[in-house]
Amino acid sequence: MQPFRVVAIPDEVAESVRTNRVAPIYGHPTHIEVAKGYGPCRLCLRTFRVGADRRVLFTYDSFHGKEKLPLPATLFDRANVDYIHVRDTDAGCFDFAIERQPAGR
Ligand SMILES: [Zn+2]
Repeated sequence: MQPFRVVAIPDEVAESVRTNRVAPIYGHPTHIEVAKGYGPCRLCLRTFRVGADRRVLFTYDSFHGKEKLPLPATLFDRANVDYIHVRDTDAGCFDFAIERQPAGR
């Protein structure tokens, strides 16, 4: 079996969003609310407690630095899958990525 890893958003992105209250790259204002859904949190990947946890919503391009254009869908290479982006099926936003790892890691 090919090894893989689950990739959340970088710590630096979460810290910047919490500190500056704007989305990285775009500068759109963030929105803070009590969780209306279970998530998951895109940093720790644990589910939210609906009606109890507060969450920060912000615009995020999960393909930044990987693709020339933002691509709001999972990318597959027909012969070889290098990474998969898992997205929320209700809101369409980025949950986390799964990346192929070199053997032996
Ligand atoms: Zn979290």
